[in-house]
Amino acid sequence: MERLQKVIARAGIASRRKAEELIKEGKVRVNGKVVTELGTKVTPSDKVEVNGIPIEKEEPVYFLLYKPRGVISSVSDDKGRKVVTDFFPEVKERIFPIGRLDYDTSGLLLLTNDGEFANLLMHPRNEIEKVYVAKVKGIPLREKLKKLEKGIWLDDGKTAPAKVKLLSADKKKQTAIIEITIHEGRNRQVRRMFEAIGHEVIKLKRERYGFLTMNGLKAGEARELTPHEVKQLR
Ligand code: URA
Repeated sequence: MERLQKVIARAGIASRRKAEELIKEGKVRVNGKVVTELGTKVTPSDKVEVNGIPIEKEEPVYFLLYKPRGVISSVSDDKGRKVVTDFFPEVKERIFPIGRLDYDTSGLLLLTNDGEFANLLMHPRNEIEKVYVAKVKGIPLREKLKKLEKGIWLDDGKTAPAKVKLLSADKKKQTAIIEITIHEGRNRQVRRMFEAIGHEVIKLKRERYGFLTMNGLKAGEARELTPHEVKQLR
């Protein structure tokens, strides 16, 4: 037995809050009857309809992908480029990425068909730690890295404090490898943060997401999350 709003959210139709609104507005039927009670529980055999359309119920599935560079974090691309779901030809469920990595960014990306779980992880309140390793042009001065640590103004506001570690510097090539840990997930955030201190990102990889790493995976490989990992993330 599961709460009705959770089942609707997991089907990817709406966030849990929106699902609650739909229920209150009388847009949801269970076995043909309008239900407006938020605490209503349903079983997998109950027929749930939203706005007259039956929701398709799937078992929730959770995957961790080591996304290679040159892949779109989407389920389809009108230009025919490779998308992250192409790495799961055998998966029947309608999975989608939780958040996104840029086309040229590699690294850890989660995919699921559980809309509610995805909303939960992407909510800023959740503040999941994401660790990136960036190769940048030039060798940033300590003061500049400090600016990133404190928070820096981007055109969509100041970034939250970050952890920044210079891992290595190549004086001849004038490049540096830097580890940066952030909690937010704004569009192209790491690239924009480095741009803001005058160092273009040449390569970017997400190494860690919360407690999850890509240990044992090669680029393009994926594995299922264990039920314990899913529980820990919730
Ligand atoms: N920050 C970026 O700039 N790009 C990503 O893909 C992820 C974080």
